[in-house]
Amino acid sequence: MDKLTMQDESQQGRVGALQSQADPKLVEQWHAVVARMRKEFGDSVYNSWLKPLGVLSADEKRVVVGAPTRFMSDWVQKNYIDRLSDFWQAELGHPVVVELMVNPLAADKTADAAGATAPEPQSKAGQASATPAYQQAARSEQSATDALCAPIDPRYTFDSFVVGKSNELAHAAARRVASSEGVQFNPLFLYGGVGLGKTHLMHALAWEIRSRNPNRNVLYLSAEKFMYEFVRALRFKDTMAFKEQFRSVDVLMVDDVQFIANKDATQEEFFHTFNALVDHNRQVIISADRSPSDLEGIEERIRSRLGWGLVADIHATDYELRLGILQSKLEQMQGVEVHDDVLEFLAKRITSNVRELEGALNRVSAHASLMGKPVTLDVTREVLQDLIRANDRRVTIDEIQRSVADYFNVRLADLLSARRARAVARPRQVAMYLSKQLTARSLPEIGRKFGGRDHTTVMHAVKRIDELRELDASLDDDLQHLSRVLGG
Ligand code: ADP
Ligand code: MG
Repeated sequence: MDKLTMQDESQQGRVGALQSQADPKLVEQWHAVVARMRKEFGDSVYNSWLKPLGVLSADEKRVVVGAPTRFMSDWVQKNYIDRLSDFWQAELGHPVVVELMVNPLAADKTADAAGATAPEPQSKAGQASATPAYQQAARSEQSATDALCAPIDPRYTFDSFVVGKSNELAHAAARRVASSEGVQFNPLFLYGGVGLGKTHLMHALAWEIRSRNPNRNVLYLSAEKFMYEFVRALRFKDTMAFKEQFRSVDVLMVDDVQFIANKDATQEEFFHTFNALVDHNRQVIISADRSPSDLEGIEERIRSRLGWGLVADIHATDYELRLGILQSKLEQMQGVEVHDDVLEFLAKRITSNVRELEGALNRVSAHASLMGKPVTLDVTREVLQDLIRANDRRVTIDEIQRSVADYFNVRLADLLSARRARAVARPRQVAMYLSKQLTARSLPEIGRKFGGRDHTTVMHAVKRIDELRELDASLDDDLQHLSRVLGG
């Protein structure tokens, strides 16, 4: 088959300048492919996702299709690329790879074959440059929101999010916000420690909201990016345009808002943006590593305003959730053989956060695949020595409470309750004592974890157990045993 267009491949092997654009024959083939897609997926998919696309070039091995925004490109990649490839293949009569790239003019070019400009390769979109994103956007005819919006990871969906006790509230809240057209909780504030799935949930929300209504203008970005854009706007004396960009969105999502702590001007601007959106009944979704009231370095009025909607926390994972996540990841990594005891071992030992858990699974499976062997427990222990040691030192208060309750045979709920009966009061003090010894948590934090007790209660418990352990050898044995079990 003849080459339909000439391509300059000098730029990192990606398509560079497209010289002859939209060959009439190619356009005809594109229309045939799109017609088949429309027949298969229906008019609404066609109008939302296919009509805005256009073919840019084709050669023997690949067809390059342009989408007007990065989000569209991601979405088509995720949902329609397989069928798109099938239909191209049928049209051309030989195997081809269909590649997507961001090109705001792609659809127009397919409609009329004139006027070529070099499209921006997708991998470059969104890279930092000296010009504010909204100015770049104006120049490239890309929507301003799209230029500001961080890429949404196609792997982070509600489907791939495993729900357990520690994250079910945050998950339910996110689902609710994603599925309602109106504004329910404003803002939705998600918080939790590092690597526990906040960003995953934010991306899942963005996917879901946009897929339900592609016309809703969703802007997702990190608080850090918000600050950089704001600082640039100040430098370019263009804060009006900056404000307008943000105020035109339907849904604003800001990840890791703790970043703007102690950055006064940024906070101020963020607060105005936030209020303007909430006043106009636009949905705002925020994530942070701690609750609104614990956000030090952020002005009181902002903290309190952030807590007005729904505040949902993600706790540390428990064993069952970790095991569930590992199983789900393993299903996605087709063809990797990992013994069940390995998954159990990982779920038991890698307790810090989900990111490390995933990393551990990737490491052992990569190792096994290089060595051409299945993943066994021995291999796992060896490959992950360093990680396991690090995790052993990072026992959580939840685990301490559970182990202590088990050991003394009391119910966890009683351990956390206000009951003063000696049979639960002493184990409770032991658990507080071990929490102080084995974790880096402060006394107030420990108090909060024990049913919201005061830090002086924790201090008293620590002192008391310290004294008793000198006098009571069997208590000392108990403590030594528990420390060992907990890896202290
Ligand atoms: P955070 O933003 O809270 O630091 P992330 O959302 O980046 O954490 O999550 C870290 C990694 O763990 C990601 O790869 C994410 O997909 C994964 N992850 C976290 N929680 C879950 C979960 N409940 N189910 C599946 N994957 C999860
Ligand atoms: Mg994150």
